[in-house]
Amino acid sequence: MLSILKKTFGYPAFRGAQEDIIGHVANGGDALVLMPTGGGKSLCFQIPALLREGVGVVVSPLIALMQNQVDQLKQVGVRAEFLNSSLTGAQADDVEQRLLKGDLDLLYIAPERLVTSRCLDLLQQAHIALFAIDEAHCVSQWGHDFRPEYLQLSILHARFPDVPRIALTATADELTRGEMIARLNLESARVFISSFARPNIRYRVVEKQDARQQLLQFLREEHAGDAGIVYCLSRKKVDETAHWLKAEGIAALPYHAGMDADTRRKNQEKFLREEGVVMVATIAFGMGIDKPDVRFVAHLDLPKSVEGYYQETGRAGRDGAPANAWMTYGLGDVVQLSRMIEQSEADEAHKRIERHKLDAMLGYCETTSCRRQMLLQYFGEVAMPCGNCDTCLSPAQTWDGSEAAQQALSAVFRTGQRFGVGHVIDVLTGKATARMQSLGHDQLTTFGIGRELDDKRWRSVFRQLVTMGLLNVDITSYGVLRLNAVARPVLRGEQTIRVRLEAEPQKKVKAKKRGAGAIDLPKEAGELLEALRMLRRRLADEQGVPSFVIFHDSTLMQLVTQKPQTRAQLAQISGIGAQKLEHYGAALLELLQLSAPAAVSVAMAELKKA
Ligand code: ADP
Ligand code: ZN
Repeated sequence: MLSILKKTFGYPAFRGAQEDIIGHVANGGDALVLMPTGGGKSLCFQIPALLREGVGVVVSPLIALMQNQVDQLKQVGVRAEFLNSSLTGAQADDVEQRLLKGDLDLLYIAPERLVTSRCLDLLQQAHIALFAIDEAHCVSQWGHDFRPEYLQLSILHARFPDVPRIALTATADELTRGEMIARLNLESARVFISSFARPNIRYRVVEKQDARQQLLQFLREEHAGDAGIVYCLSRKKVDETAHWLKAEGIAALPYHAGMDADTRRKNQEKFLREEGVVMVATIAFGMGIDKPDVRFVAHLDLPKSVEGYYQETGRAGRDGAPANAWMTYGLGDVVQLSRMIEQSEADEAHKRIERHKLDAMLGYCETTSCRRQMLLQYFGEVAMPCGNCDTCLSPAQTWDGSEAAQQALSAVFRTGQRFGVGHVIDVLTGKATARMQSLGHDQLTTFGIGRELDDKRWRSVFRQLVTMGLLNVDITSYGVLRLNAVARPVLRGEQTIRVRLEAEPQKKVKAKKRGAGAIDLPKEAGELLEALRMLRRRLADEQGVPSFVIFHDSTLMQLVTQKPQTRAQLAQISGIGAQKLEHYGAALLELLQLSAPAAVSVAMAELKKA
């Protein structure tokens, strides 16, 4: 096991439960593996497939995903192929012949093809080492990734009772787990549950002010040249945001279900293949995007649930290098999502669940304790404060907001619970506008009583009163604020309230410079990294594969920090196995032996030539 890990994949050690899982499956046991995105699930079936006699058959729901995995396996010298609708008849025949000849280590098959009797008959004639069912949560009829073909996969157990099966997913909840076991006949499988913590992701929530400018600043200051995803709620906003970012000189592309399939595919392809593409997308984008070097996931709108948020942010930093999950959030988001829930066609029971999920999401945004702790708790895990989220890094200040809350609630009450937050704040801060006078609101006792706080602070107070459930935003009538019964003790000054003091936007969390691990690099190292990226780009282009298939960012970072000068030293770098050493060793050493500026000019010249 270990020698395959080292020689073939070039990694020095197993991660977490990998070793146990691989041992169990290699010995013929069935397994259900729950591991977060980026946890290293692939090796859990790839290595047993190499250890056991015959071919490992992998069921995978997405064509792009298969292509990626097969590309990566070929790079390390594993005989891998796939069978799906993207192949011509002749290509598929060829793969089938190699299967029958025992000339394959791994074969990826789309589920709808696998369950045909033709394919099952074919497999019966081959020697099968194991079946791996990737993204196994696709059997769940309640999940949003449901794939009906997955329900038929129980046939594998019936037709091949002696072949071990390993099902894998990053979906953690209990309901889905039960469904996977029942529908895939995995009752006797050993279940491996890993922690869902993603320590390399830094979670941050910033108060929404000018969301676009905030995003731009975040991209420029912390992620220049990095690949990442910006999630928006609506298709329209996706289009507008992508357009705007492009005009600002950022390599942004849109992706949503309203675009034609061809453009969508092209954009996805670019995101995977080119460096530093920012995908602006609705949540239609993501499943199966197996790109390890996504350095950030930004949310311009509040996600509808913690599950969704965790899945979306989980697409950052699969390679284990530092990554950011960044979100802007304001009262408008709460209003918008509440409105969507109320106006949806769903029945009351359904709406109640959705409201519940939204509340949990709001709780996450407003928390003054560790965000990661809260996320993990949501998934039933107990954890210590992480030290790598905004609230850990710059603990949120709170202040006694009892008086402010009292003033705010009183102003809502005095204005007849008929106005939105903007007007009520104008009352509190005493803006004697014409409208104010015509309404007679400048005569109210609450007029101008809140002058010591500015508009911004008041907005934050109101948002927190809404998320605490003291105020309701009536979403059917332009965000009118109404008091809830629980507000009474606060209004009467009988209950104290602590309010979160918003950190000054951005600055508190130290900005990090560009790329590859979001670590500050000295100039020299930065240049060397640039040269290595260009080399990687050239090698990838020559073979028509995405650059991460050649080397991951984490491998480049190690090359920069350790500067190996000999083949033996190169072989010690994580991610450089025997075949990569053979193919790329010379080119790497050539650059590494030069001074950084010289390496840049050599790499640039060769990239241009290619
Ligand atoms: P998952 O499918 O669980 O999302 P992957 O199998 O794609 O995760 O692995 C995530 C990343 O971690 C990949 O870049 C993979 O090469 C790397 N990786 C997996 N196992 C190890 C290991 N033992 N040592 C170093 N890197 C690893
Ligand atoms: Zn934390």
